Amino acid sequence: MMLINKQIGEWFDHFHKHPEISWKEVETTKKIAEILTEMNVKHHTFDDVTGVVAEIGEGDRIIAVRADIDALWQEVDGVFRANHSCGHDANISMVIGALAYLKEQELGGRIRFIFQPAEEKGNGAISMIERGAVDGVSICSAFISDQKKKFRSGKYHPPFIMGRRFSSKQK
Ligand SMILES: [Zn+2]
Repeated sequence: MMLINKQIGEWFDHFHKHPEISWKEVETTKKIAEILTEMNVKHHTFDDVTGVVAEIGEGDRIIAVRADIDALWQEVDGVFRANHSCGHDANISMVIGALAYLKEQELGGRIRFIFQPAEEKGNGAISMIERGAVDGVSICSAFISDQKKKFRSGKYHPPFIMGRRFSSKQK
């Protein structure tokens, strides 16, 4: 786990330094795909939208884990620019970390990882659903940053704030 923790920190630093706003997450998408290729994880990107969908395991049962990948457009030190202040840089890194860990475990089914674009615009989720990202999924779990709770280490404050996990069951 120590190695993964260090790696998550490095991924976080990368994504934090390279923020891209909704629907423009081109380099972010490339970087995620690159990491997944290096990890030998089956994944795909889309011709018409940003975002990545990956999958590990085997079987009929599929659960999904989702991360947001877009940054906000904000004034930072007097200059307007893309900025990861909502924690999506942390979401991406933690979800890739979970993937790296779970990949080495004995799984009783498949786990699909959805790196969803344009959460801040509100229409990124639909773009993934329309492209089949949740087809066959029984449980979807999302990571959402909670600005009020500090991540225990305090090292990556404020964006690396503990994600709040919730599950919504589809029928
Ligand atoms: Zn957000």
